[in-house]
Amino acid sequence: MSPESPQASRATKICERCIGRAFASVGTGISNPERGHNFLQGNENNSLPEGLAIVGEDACQICRGVFQRLDDYFQEFNEQARSIEFKTYLVGSRFPKDVSEMDEALQRSLGSDQGEPIKREFNREFGKIILSKTGKEAEFSEPDLNIVVDLNYDSFQLKTRSIYIYGVYRKMRRDIPQTRWIHKKDISTSIETVLGEILKPMAQARNYFLHGAGREDVDVQMLGNGREFIMEVSEPRIRTFSLGELEQKVNGSREGIEISSLRFASKDEVATLKAAANDKTYLVKVKALKDIDRERLLKAVQKLSGKHIYQRTPLRVSTRRSDLIRDKKLQEVTVEETNGNIAVVKVRAEAGTYIKELIHGDDGRTKPSLSETYGEQLAVESLDVIWIHRNGE
Ligand SMILES: [Zn+2]
Repeated sequence: MSPESPQASRATKICERCIGRAFASVGTGISNPERGHNFLQGNENNSLPEGLAIVGEDACQICRGVFQRLDDYFQEFNEQARSIEFKTYLVGSRFPKDVSEMDEALQRSLGSDQGEPIKREFNREFGKIILSKTGKEAEFSEPDLNIVVDLNYDSFQLKTRSIYIYGVYRKMRRDIPQTRWIHKKDISTSIETVLGEILKPMAQARNYFLHGAGREDVDVQMLGNGREFIMEVSEPRIRTFSLGELEQKVNGSREGIEISSLRFASKDEVATLKAAANDKTYLVKVKALKDIDRERLLKAVQKLSGKHIYQRTPLRVSTRRSDLIRDKKLQEVTVEETNGNIAVVKVRAEAGTYIKELIHGDDGRTKPSLSETYGEQLAVESLDVIWIHRNGE
C-alpha cells in the first residue's frame, strides 16, 4: 500500500463505470464506463462533487471490481448449472446494502435522475456473458431458470420453473385418495404419489403436486371419460422427457390408475381447470333392509328427476366446509337394475351435488332424498363417477 495524503484517503474512490451508471439512460449504444469517461472529459472534473477521487474499477468503493469478475462468476455459474436443462433464464442479483446506498448517494450528488441501480447493470452484463458463452437468451416472463447472484456471499441460487402436465385420469379402485394425506400415514398411496414418484426421476425434480378438476371420495371410482388434472413438477432439472413413457409407466404400474391425453400445459391452466363446474353422471349401488319394491322405486326417482334438492353441508365434511344450504339440480335419475335388496341407480347432477347424501338423506339435511321419496331408509353400497360432462356435452 502506498502512503496516501489525509485528503485523498478521506475521498470516496469511484470508477468511471459507477459515474457513468448515473447517466445510464443518456444515449444508446455506449457502455456505462464510456459514459463516465465522457462525463469526466466534458467536465474537466470541474463540476465533480467534492470528495470524489477517480480510480480504476478494482479500487472502486462502490462496484468493488465486480464487473471485472463476470467471467469468474460465469465459470462458477456454469459449474452449478451443468446438469440443469434450460433454454431461457433470468438473472437477478443481491448487493450488500451499503453498496446500494453508496450507489444511490453518488447518483444524487451528481444531480442525475437518469441513472440505473447497480444491480440492473450487473443483471444485464451477466446476462450478456451467459448469452455470449451459451447462446441462450434471457427471458423475462417465464424463464426456465431463475439465477440469483448474491454478491453478499458470492453465491448462486438457481431455481427452475415448474413443469405442468395436463391429462385425464381414471381410478379403478376404492381405497386411495386423489392427493397425499399428510395427516394420515396409513394411506401412503394416492393418484398424486403414483404419478409423482414416476415423474420425479424422469424430470429429476424436487417435488410434485396434483391439481384436479374437482375430486372424488377415496371409496369412489372415477370411470368413463376420466377426470382432468394438471400435474405440477417442481424444480425439475430435466425439462424434455417423453409423456408417452410417463403414460406407459403409470398405466403399467398395476396401481389401478390409468392416465391419458397427456400434454405439456401452462401454469395459468391450473386455475381454469380447478374452476370447472361440470355435470357428472354417477352409478350408485343402493341397498335397502328389505327387497326393493321396483315400482315404488321407479316412482321415487321420477319425483327427483329434473328437480332441485337442498343440501345442508353434510356432517362428514362439516369440519372442512362452511355450513350452508346448497340448491342443486338433478338433471336425471333413473333405475338401472333391481335385484333383491339392491338397486342400481343412475344420477346425472350438477357439479357439487353430494350423491351419498342424496341417497341416504343425511338425517334430513338433504331434502328431498331418495330414502324420503322411496319411503324407506336406503344406504349407499358403492358409488362410481361414470361420466364428467365437459364442454357442455
Ligand atoms: Zn465502480
